[in-house]
Parts: sequence; structure tokens; C-alpha cells
Amino acid sequence: MTTVMHFINGKQVANSSTRNGNVFNPAKGEITKHVALAETKDAKAAIQAAVDAYPAWRDTSLTKRQQIMFAFREILNANKEELAAIVTEEHGKTLPDALGEVTRGLEVVEYATSMASHLKGSYSEQVSTSIDVYSIKQSLGVVGIISPFNFPAMVPMWFFPIALAAGNTVVLKPSEKNPSAAIWMAEKLKQAGLPDGVFNVLQGDKVAVDELLTNSDVQAISFVGSTPIAKYVYETGTAHGKRVQALGGAKNHMLVLPDADLELVADSAINAGFGSAGERCMAISVVIAVEPIADALIEKIKTRMSSLKVGDGTRNCDMGPLVTKEHRDKVASYIDIAIADKATVVVDGRGIEVDGDANGFWLGPTLIDNVPTSSRVYKDEIFGPVLSVVRVASYEEGLKLINDGAYGNGTAIFTNDGGAARRFQNEVEVGMIGINVPIPVPVAYYSFGGFKSSLFGDTKAHGMQGVHFYTREKTVTSRWLDPSHGGINLGFPQN
Ligand code: NAD
Repeated sequence: MTTVMHFINGKQVANSSTRNGNVFNPAKGEITKHVALAETKDAKAAIQAAVDAYPAWRDTSLTKRQQIMFAFREILNANKEELAAIVTEEHGKTLPDALGEVTRGLEVVEYATSMASHLKGSYSEQVSTSIDVYSIKQSLGVVGIISPFNFPAMVPMWFFPIALAAGNTVVLKPSEKNPSAAIWMAEKLKQAGLPDGVFNVLQGDKVAVDELLTNSDVQAISFVGSTPIAKYVYETGTAHGKRVQALGGAKNHMLVLPDADLELVADSAINAGFGSAGERCMAISVVIAVEPIADALIEKIKTRMSSLKVGDGTRNCDMGPLVTKEHRDKVASYIDIAIADKATVVVDGRGIEVDGDANGFWLGPTLIDNVPTSSRVYKDEIFGPVLSVVRVASYEEGLKLINDGAYGNGTAIFTNDGGAARRFQNEVEVGMIGINVPIPVPVAYYSFGGFKSSLFGDTKAHGMQGVHFYTREKTVTSRWLDPSHGGINLGFPQN
């Protein structure tokens, strides 16, 4: 059985110890590979490669850095089905969904090909006599990226194209659950002309993460994962003097007003609740129905659920398995919690018929009505195909539920009333808002990130905030003396 290795200094490198983890094909329920789990020594080697590569990469012309991003874009685009197949094999999501993930990552690569315009500084002439002031944006040095299992291609691409094009060198620590996409991307970056050591992949778990968080050669950390780990990463990284952006978990609500188009709402609830088996940080997990529409809406959602095909992501299915058996069991346990909390289980996804291997980590789409807001089903991030419905009497009641939540990643309102939508976008305390759009993931040139427990740090991913995160500004005050000017003056210049 193969072991997925590190990628350090332009080549795949074995671990310094035999410590490794299992990589599953979730649709088959079997171990298909092992993955190296770095020791501190391996993490130091990856960081050192990035340190050594930094001076030459920083001083490589911006034009050349952009050209490499262009070349990578072309290689990625020409081979995106190959990367999507790797994602499906190790994550379980369907092939079209995996291809969608790669395409969203590709958009950030495209954004990074125009880095020259994002790195422009500013210039003010003659701010005082013979004095000019200008600013320049420079790279930080070595940056660490730590990514989750649910988007093994897209989430790393939220970060590394911008980090690299801005002149930083990178150590990427992907999820140990699906480590192969990162190696594939590292090989393609090399093929695109990226010098050795500029982009490194460190496989592993907490040991690797802790070295990235504490090593003084690492200047910044971009993290995406669950809230408790995001908080830990933010606190540890900043305590070690690093710039940190740590994107955490989510619990996204969809507020449905009585005037909404219920056919559109039902389609959207299905797509956003069960796409990628609910393993998306932007998945909708709670539908808040403003009465009197709940019964009619539930009926429409239920009808659509009966036609969903669950199975092996390589076949013609709507939804794949969950990522591991443990995760599937944890998600399924929320159905028992719902029953204990006297919610109404409208559709129970356990024991569903699937188009796939019996050992796969299956759980069918599940719909739960009348979920008490005191229940863990309502409060916890379940991260699976479990859609809750909460009934409220008014817009205000629904808004309050959303604003009282611990997370603030994404939300959506469904209505035909422009005034209500406008009021919602103003009043809701959530970072990404959809208006009749259930999964409002911003395009690459805007920035991705939420509020509250969904983002620790003050900078979001990609767009101008991504450029800002991976650069620091120098402000230069310069005087080229006119031969006639001179003399001692101990005060600040006045004119
Ligand atoms: P996770 O927190 O378990 O793992 C994320 C990363 O942290 C992985 O690389 C993992 O190896 C590492 N890690 C795990 N335990 C660690 C520990 N104790 N110490 C240090 N590092 C550790 O998350 P996951 O299960 O891979 O991903 C799902 C989570 O990610 C969900 O909560 C989801 O909402 C969140 N997510 C958020 C966004 C966002 O943009 N806000 C996007 C995608 C996923």
C-alpha cells in the first residue's frame, strides 16, 4: 500500500519515522493508502526549505511570478478532471461536485495572475518641500497554510496562489484525511516553473501544526477547520508573534419569508443542505420558516428528497458518503438526539438504499421539523446531511435566532420583497449573505470569511483582504535635496 509523502524542496520525501495515518475511500469503506504523519524534524525540514527558497523568490520579478501562476492555471485547467477524481476518491463527494471545487480554486489562481495590479503602492509628491512619500507592498516570508478535509483542493487554493504571487514561500499542511490533492498541486506548480522550496507540503497532524505555529521562521498562518482548533491556532500563532487568520466552523440559517417563491426555496434547501453530504462550511443546516408557510415548504422539500440518489461519487449520484465511519456515526447520532428532544423526524436518512459498496460511510438526507432551539441539533455544527426546520412567527424572531447564534459564517434570506432583503443585509450579523441565493460563496476577487466563532483574526481569505494578509507595507519618506536647500531645523517640516 502506498504512503502519501511530504513534498519538500521540489520532491516527494518520506517521513523520518514510521508514524502514519490511514486514508480511506469513503464510498468503499476501505483503507486505500497511508499518509506520513510528520515528526517535528520533518516539519522543520519543510520550513527550512521555504526559508532557503525565500530570498530568491522574493526577488524574482513580479512578471515572472505572474507567468508561473499563468502556467499553473493552464496546467490545472487542462487536468482538472484528474484532480477532481483524486478529491472524489479520498473525500467521497460526487465527481461533478469535486470538479466544481477545483473550478472555484482555479478562480483564485486566475485572480493571482493579475497580482501586479494588486501590489501597486501609492505615491504623494511634494508633501513638504522636496519631500515625497510613497508606500510599497512587500511579502512576509514563509507562510503556513493548514487546511480541512472538506475541500482538499479549493481551500489550499484560497490561499497559496495569492501568497506565492505576492512573493512568499509556503508550507501547506493538508488534512491527513485526504492528503493526495496537495501533492498533485505541488507537482503541477513545479511543472509550471515554480522553483524548488517555494511551495512545500507537510503531511501530518497536531505535531506538524504545532511546529508551524511556534517556529520563529514562519511569519503567518492561514487556517481553515473546526472552531475549537481555529481558536487554538489563532491563540497559539499570535502568542508566537505571527499574523494569523483562522476560519472556523459554521451553522448557517436560511430565513424564508411568507412571500418567497417556495419552489425556489425547496430546490435551494435541498442543494444547500445535502450537497457534498452537508460537509460544507457554507451548507444550510437550519431553515427558519416564517409562518404560515412551514407545512407547505416541508412537503415540497420532502418530495424532492425522495428522488435524491445517494451513492459512490464516481457514479451518477446526487450525494456521496461521509468522510469517515466515525463522522458518519456522529452525524447519525443527532437523529437520536432529535427524537429525545421531541423534534419531528420527517425523513430519517439511516438505512437508506445506496448505489455503492455496503461498507461505505453512508447516511441519507435527513429532515427534522420543530427542532427546539435548546437542542444540540439546533446549536451544534453537525456537518452532515441533516436539515433542521424551525418555525417562527415573524421576520424579527427569525433574525434574532440568527444573530443569537455562536457562528456567523453564511446566511440566506428568501423573499420577493426588496425592502425586507435590504433590511436583512443591514441587520444580520453574518459575514456572507445570500439574497435568494442559498450558498453565497464570494467570487475570488471578493473575500471569504465570517464573523464570531467562524473567523478568528481580522482578515478574510482571498480578494483584496487576501492580498493584504500576505503583504506588509513600507512607507518611505524621501528627500532629494535641491542644491539651494539646506540648514538645520529641529522641528517637523511645516511647509
Ligand atoms: P479540523 O479542525 O478537524 O482540522 C482542520 C486542520 O487542523 C487539519 O489540517 C487537521 O490536521 C488540523 N488539526 C486537527 N486537530 C488538530 C489539533 N488538535 N491541533 C492542531 N491541528 C489540528 O477540521 P476538519 O474536520 O478537517 O474540517 C471541517 C471543519 O472545517 C468544519 O468545522 C467546517 O465548518 C470547517 N470549515 C470552515 C471553513 C470556513 O471557511 N470557515 C471552510 C471549510 C471548512
